Amino acid sequence: MDNCEDTIVAISTPPGESGIGVIRLSGARSLDIAGAMFRSSRKDMRLRHSRIHYGHAVYPESGDVIDEVLLLVMKSPHSYTREDVVEIQCHGGALPMTGILESSIRLGARLAGPGEFTRRAFMNGRIDLLQAEAVIELIRSRSEKALHMASRQLGGKVSEELAEIRRRVVELLVTVEAPLDFPDEEIPAPSDRELLSSLTGLCDDIGKVIERTETSRVYREGLRCAIVGKPNVGKSSLLNALVGQERAIVTEFPGTTRDSIECWISIRGIPVTLLDTAGLRSTGDPIEREGVRKTEEALLTSDCALMVIDHTTGVTRDDEEILDMLKERELKVINVINKCDLLLSEKPKASSSITVGEGSVSVSAMTGLGIDILKETIGSRLSQQGERGDGCALCSTRHLEVLIRAREALKEAQTAIREGFPHDACLVELKRAQYSFGELFGEDYSVEVLDTLFSEFCVGK
Ligand code: GDP
Repeated sequence: MDNCEDTIVAISTPPGESGIGVIRLSGARSLDIAGAMFRSSRKDMRLRHSRIHYGHAVYPESGDVIDEVLLLVMKSPHSYTREDVVEIQCHGGALPMTGILESSIRLGARLAGPGEFTRRAFMNGRIDLLQAEAVIELIRSRSEKALHMASRQLGGKVSEELAEIRRRVVELLVTVEAPLDFPDEEIPAPSDRELLSSLTGLCDDIGKVIERTETSRVYREGLRCAIVGKPNVGKSSLLNALVGQERAIVTEFPGTTRDSIECWISIRGIPVTLLDTAGLRSTGDPIEREGVRKTEEALLTSDCALMVIDHTTGVTRDDEEILDMLKERELKVINVINKCDLLLSEKPKASSSITVGEGSVSVSAMTGLGIDILKETIGSRLSQQGERGDGCALCSTRHLEVLIRAREALKEAQTAIREGFPHDACLVELKRAQYSFGELFGEDYSVEVLDTLFSEFCVGK
C-alpha cells in the first residue's frame, strides 16, 4: 500500500565522502522536523518557502551541534513530491549525514524506501509513470544520446506523443460504442471500411514507436564489443588505447589475460562495452583453457568483435581458426591490424597474407596511431543499429510489452471486423487497447508493478 501520510527522510547523495551531502525530508511534518534540528543566529527562525536558510543542525535532545548546514525549503505543492520538502545540505561525511538522518527519524520521520520521493511525485500527480521511469533512466544514462532521450521522456514529450495515439483509440472506441449503447438514438455506426482504416493507422503508428524503442535501446543499453585474437597480438594494449587509460594489464607473456576485462566508452553516443578476452589458441594449460571458454562465452553476448592481428606475423593459422569461429557466430567483425608502428622498422613476415577482407583498420595500440579511425569504424558499423533512435522512443521492457499488447488488441479488432463479427467484438478489443494505454501512463497500475518499478531506484531519489 502507498502511504503518503507520513514524512519520509533519506540521504539523497551517494554513499561515501563528498564535498556536501544532502538529506531530504518530504511530507507534512518536514518543516517541523527540520525546524526542531535547526539553529540560526537570525531572530526569525521560521522556515520560509523557496528560501535557503543558513545555520547549524543540532541534536534535538542535547542541542549539540552536528554540522554547519544550509536548509532549502519548498512548500507544497511547489516541490519535487508536491509535499512540503526540506533539503538539508551538510558536509558530505558519514557522521554529519547520519547524525541528521537519525535525528530526523527520532523526531518522527520514517526512512524512505527506494525511489519513494519519485513515487510520491507520481502518486501526487506531478508526473506520470512514464516520467517517473525516465528519472531512473536519467540517473543511469551512460551516453549523451541516452540522457537526451530520458530527458525528453521526463519533460513529457513522449507522454504527449503517446497521449495523442491514445486519444485516437478513445475516439474510435466512442464511435463504435455510442450506436451500440444508444440504439434508439439512431447514431450512425461507422462503416467497416472506416474502422479498418483507422485501426490500420493506429497499428502503424504504434508500430513505429515500438520500432524506435527497439532501436533506441542501443543508446541506452549499449552494445558489447569483444576484443579477440591470439595471445600477445596487443588486445589489452588496444583496449587501453581505446579507453585512454591503463585499465587492462599489458604484459609481454602470452596468455596473461585469463579473465575478461570490461570497460566502456561512448562512440557516437552509443555506450560500447569493450571486453578484453583471453587469447584464443589451442592449449593444454587448464587455466588458459578456462580463459578460452570464457572468451567463447563473452562472444555469445557480444554484438561485434574486434579481431586483432599482429602486423609483424601477418595472418597465421591460429588467426584463421579464430576468424572461422567468428564467421560461424555471425558476429560483426572488424579486423584490426596492430603494431603498425613496426611497419618501417620490422618487415612483416607475412603481410601479403593479410587478406582479412574489407574494413580492416591498421593501428598501433602503442603509439595511438589509427585509434581514432578505428573508433570511427566501430561507430559507423554499430550506429546502423541505433539509427532512428531519436523521436518518441520509450525506455523499458514494460513499455514495449504494454505497447505490443495494445497493438495486438487493435489487430484483433481488425480481424473481428474482417471476419464479419458484430461491432461488440471490436469494442472489446478497443477497450483492451485503451486499458493498455492506462497502464502505460500508470493510471491502471497495480501495487506490484509500482513496487517492482520503484525498487530499481536508489534510496533518496
Ligand atoms: P594481448 O596478449 O593480446 O592482450 O597483448 P598485450 O596487449 O599484452 O601486448 C603484448 C605485447 O605487445 C606487449 O609487450 C605490448 O607492449 C606489445 N604491443 C601491443 N601493441 C603494440 C603496438 O601497437 N606496437 C608495438 N610495437 N608493440 C605492441
